Amino acid sequence: MTGFNTQVVHGQAINDNQTGAINVPIYNSSTYQYRSLQASVRWDYARSGNPTREFLEKQIAQLEQGACGFAFSSGMAAIHAVLAIFKPGDHLIVGDQIYGGTYRLLDQYFKEREISFTSVDPRDLTAIKAAIQPNTKAIYFEPISNPLLRVTSVKQVSQLARQAGLLTIVDNTFLTPYLQKPLMLGADIVVHSATKYLSGHSDVIAGLVVTKTAELGKKIYFIQNALGGVLSPQDASLVRRGIQTLALRLDRQMENVAALIKFLQPLPQIACLHYPGLPNSEDYQVAVAECHGFGGVFSFELAPNVDAAEFVNHLQLFKLAVSLGAVESLAELPYEMSHAELPVAERLAAGITPQLIRLAVGIEEAADLKADLKQALVVAIND
Ligand SMILES: *Cc1c(COP(=O)(O)O)cnc(C)c1O
Repeated sequence: MTGFNTQVVHGQAINDNQTGAINVPIYNSSTYQYRSLQASVRWDYARSGNPTREFLEKQIAQLEQGACGFAFSSGMAAIHAVLAIFKPGDHLIVGDQIYGGTYRLLDQYFKEREISFTSVDPRDLTAIKAAIQPNTKAIYFEPISNPLLRVTSVKQVSQLARQAGLLTIVDNTFLTPYLQKPLMLGADIVVHSATKYLSGHSDVIAGLVVTKTAELGKKIYFIQNALGGVLSPQDASLVRRGIQTLALRLDRQMENVAALIKFLQPLPQIACLHYPGLPNSEDYQVAVAECHGFGGVFSFELAPNVDAAEFVNHLQLFKLAVSLGAVESLAELPYEMSHAELPVAERLAAGITPQLIRLAVGIEEAADLKADLKQALVVAIND
């Protein structure tokens, strides 16, 4: 077994390369020739299988240490495919801080199709237990929540789930297999928006699924082929390339996060900071026990005398944009942007205030990022 840094670079050969090309070719072919009517064919039609996509699918399965990987045209297509294994009448328990698009899919699509769900704080095992019904089939959550970066123990939740006969499904977008391998902690299915860290360059929309067992893999494969939301070979190649530098990028992003937190923490303009790597954060113990690092996203609350809109509008290097995980640094105001669809009361109850800023830190020079934050803070102070 090779180390993670070697695995991200090399992946697993699909043995379809007759030229010796170092990278898996982009197979732009929707269909494949049968040698004869009786001959068995490895590939027949590209929705069902494509060698470029399959390289990526094996690559992510290896990194997450699962049995099977699947690539989809977006993170939401991947999540849809996973939730599509459930049937009308089934009930799910879901984390109360999941990605807004996932919540919308459950609340406005699957609910109408008679798959019900209960939202709970996944850190609260008693609340999970209380939410289990006779028809509950799975618990779905994100081990690091967005934008407050609260950490849930995958180990404890999946242990409880197994005892109750439920599947554990984890959205590992914010940590990636470099920082946490949920399947090794007991989860059954991992999903990713590969749009974020895995591709890493803000140039592709993609989603991935990894199953612990081949049996679950069969179910996801059926849905992938039947619903057809597959990733194109071009985009599969981009994600494959992005993954090769995943560990390098995250190392730099986390170094930059540490430098920026060190700079911001003592400033009177910062009311509080949210990052699981801070020893005073409420979930620090779980984070240290289950993650090898805490990622490139952190958030902070501006003091009341700082105008949040002025602050983000005056950032120059940090681009005002949603999304995360790429080489360039992004800033956003969750209250107005990523979480604007939540009713005000829910936003506030979740701790998403108008003064909260989320930074997705890139790989630039830390000194330049610091200088950018500093100048924007100066402009944004209300005297
Ligand atoms: C972005 C995101 C998604 C959705 O992925 P898309 O690639 O945008 O479809 C799902 N989960 C999390 C945690 C995300 O950040």
